Amino acid sequence: MSDVYEALQKIVGEDYVSNRTEERYFYGRDPGLMPPHEPDYVVMPKTTEEVQEIIKLANMEKVPVTPKGGGLALTGLVIPLKAGIVMDMKRMDRILEVNEKASYVVVEAGVTHGALKSYLQKYHPHLRHSIPDSPPIATIVANAVIHGQGRLTQQRGFNSDMVSGLEVVLGTGEICRIGSCALSSQWFSKGPPMPDLSGLFLGWFGSTGVITKLGMKLYPCKRIRDVMLFLTDKAELVPEIIRKLTHTEMFEDIVVSGQPIPLRFKGNFYILVFMTADSDEELEFKKKMAWDALWVYFESRDGGFVSVTPDMKPALLAMPSKDTTKFADVSKGGGFEYSGPITPIDNFPIFVKKLEEKAEEYKLFYGYAARVIDAGHSMMFPFSYTFNRADPDEMKRAKKAMDEAVEFALEKGGVIWKPNINEQQMIMERIDPNTLKLMTSIKQLLDPNGIMNPGNWEAK
Ligand SMILES: Cc1cc2nc3c(=O)[nH]c(=O)nc-3n(C[C@H](O)[C@H](O)[C@H](O)COP(=O)(O)OP(=O)(O)OC[C@H]3O[C@@H](n4cnc5c(N)ncnc54)[C@H](O)[C@@H]3O)c2cc1C
Repeated sequence: MSDVYEALQKIVGEDYVSNRTEERYFYGRDPGLMPPHEPDYVVMPKTTEEVQEIIKLANMEKVPVTPKGGGLALTGLVIPLKAGIVMDMKRMDRILEVNEKASYVVVEAGVTHGALKSYLQKYHPHLRHSIPDSPPIATIVANAVIHGQGRLTQQRGFNSDMVSGLEVVLGTGEICRIGSCALSSQWFSKGPPMPDLSGLFLGWFGSTGVITKLGMKLYPCKRIRDVMLFLTDKAELVPEIIRKLTHTEMFEDIVVSGQPIPLRFKGNFYILVFMTADSDEELEFKKKMAWDALWVYFESRDGGFVSVTPDMKPALLAMPSKDTTKFADVSKGGGFEYSGPITPIDNFPIFVKKLEEKAEEYKLFYGYAARVIDAGHSMMFPFSYTFNRADPDEMKRAKKAMDEAVEFALEKGGVIWKPNINEQQMIMERIDPNTLKLMTSIKQLLDPNGIMNPGNWEAK
């Protein structure tokens, strides 16, 4: 093992590899509920070639490698289940290109959402990307790897749908380009009109290779952003309300949120409708479209728009929203995890009911911010509970509540988003056997020695 340490030092330099107790402790856990497991080494490569050398070494020595971005996926996806090397991507932090005309950016794997947001605001203020509500140290690449969602998801689909090319080091150590960048210097398409091979890496949690560069589509950054707030106390109306809003094709993002405290929130469904405009006229027109779409609920007294006062707006419009991060500490002790099935929006009422039932049964605090995906084709519904990390009993209760909610979501046809390894097993037990065979063959081909984030997407 000391040979591996020395070989890693030769590849990245002695400052960027560690087997010290404190680093192994830190890199052995994440903020969620999955049990910790420490790596043997932590390494921070700076270049694609260094990543390649590390993977070649890992293949030779049969040492597992777990890539890590911000470590904020919460479901244990960066915990090195079989020890070995955690590869922290943070030194690969260059924004390599912004193509103004074709509207895309090419970033290295360690570039964070916060860094890209600041860069675009400064140098390309008329362009933007889809920012998730995770803390700003979340990486663009890892967020795409887990099919994350951000402020443009209602209009444009998952953040991974906005990927426009990849550079990957396969589990065998070969470097491979995916999309238009495989045959030219342009990163405008991740596949079409060729076969879309990005699916061999997005959604695999690093178990097929390490993404070293990624192209991401950019979209117009309009001058004004605003938000409207629609309130109803009838969960069964929420899917129809969403359909009426998405039908207008006017809005940037639609998020339905709720929580039981303060009491005025309990039993109410807050539908946040975000919009952008280049002029006051455009903004007023969009607001009128929202009013017209939902007027029927006003008349039936089933819901209405609530005034958003100027002091409420900065918090509601912040990107990322700070409210989710604050929610993480509601129980004090900073524990928070959510399992978010991607589901048809019609499941919203029964999922809210289940979330509340489990909170009551296990005496937990809950909250949710469900995001509409791709014009209402689906929604991410988070079963989210907070817990005090210093209270093992509360953590156990939160885990039980989440496991049972996930079981329920799968029964109702939801697909678990960023599943932890137990949830991956639940998916693989239910999935079409030929699909599972195909997944296993793909993994075997790209990572024949099973060194890449082992334990993930591995059928028992
Ligand atoms: C308060 C809060 C709010 C959140 N809100 C949102 C939200 O609105 N939208 C959303 O999408 N998510 C949200 N999340 C979840 C999560 O934080 C984000 O999805 C985040 O972008 C994950 O990125 P990361 O860099 O932390 O990933 P990590 O946890 O570091 O990694 C995730 C997965 O990607 C793999 N990986 C990392 N780098 C690479 C690489 N270079 N190549 C291959 N595989 C790699 C890892 O092995 C792991 O399996 C939220 C989380 C919190 C705590």
